[in-house]
Amino acid sequence: MPGRIYAVTNQKGGVGKTTTAVNLAACLAEAGERALVIDLDPQANATSGLGERANGTSSYDLLDGAPLGDLAKPTRFRNLYLVPSKPDLAGAVVELSRREDGERFLAESLAGAADDYRFVFLDCPPSLGPLTVNALAAADRVLVPVQAEYYALEGLSQLLHSVDLVRARLNPRLSVAGVLLTMVDARTRLSADVERELRSHLGELVFRTSVPRSVRLAEAPSFGVPAIVHDRRSAGAEAYWKVAMELVERS
Ligand code: ADP
Ligand code: MG
Repeated sequence: MPGRIYAVTNQKGGVGKTTTAVNLAACLAEAGERALVIDLDPQANATSGLGERANGTSSYDLLDGAPLGDLAKPTRFRNLYLVPSKPDLAGAVVELSRREDGERFLAESLAGAADDYRFVFLDCPPSLGPLTVNALAAADRVLVPVQAEYYALEGLSQLLHSVDLVRARLNPRLSVAGVLLTMVDARTRLSADVERELRSHLGELVFRTSVPRSVRLAEAPSFGVPAIVHDRRSAGAEAYWKVAMELVERS
């Protein structure tokens, strides 16, 4: 079966994009699938969260036309590969917006990715700028983590509208893999209200599993390992395993 490319996107920061990309990739890799994380955020949180850093090439080179095969490096985790990021990726934003065909660079660099990896996760920066547009133009599916908080729904319609625009203009095969509720605090009414509202608006589009607020998920990056490796019995790790299975079901 050919692989799928997932853009993990939300223009808000701190909603769980990186945590989701890293942990889903780690689950699927551990289950025996070749998985690749491409860090598209100049903040490089996915890179450091996997205990790596970019010395030499990075996702910047991918946007510059270098072949994926030269840039994807194995991590310490079996079946899990990474194209790291570094701060100079911020400069690519300016360059991409200057070039006329700057929206399809990543799509071209990733044209053969689905032959080599069963799951590719593009960890997007917190904006709908050129890097995210490149990710949406290159992806088969969009996966949208949404934090369980009052303003959660506000940015979501704008994001789904952008997905429609990219589908119409750049990438007809793009569809939404699902909206994932993150940092849910089961004890608060707010979380329950947000969850109910999201599910009533979006129905099946929302993953059945939601990710609880979990200290283990938050502390794992400081050890440079995915949370599912840091503490596989934690509620957060178990949630990501379930989400990974739903993703396989939906793919
Ligand atoms: P984004 O990539 O959208 O900016 P991150 O995945 O980096 O978001 O998450 C933002 C912060 O919240 C990080 O410090 C991360 O470790 C923490 N975090 C993410 N998901 C959870 C969760 N379910 N429970 C607790 N902390 C979380
Ligand atoms: Mg991030």
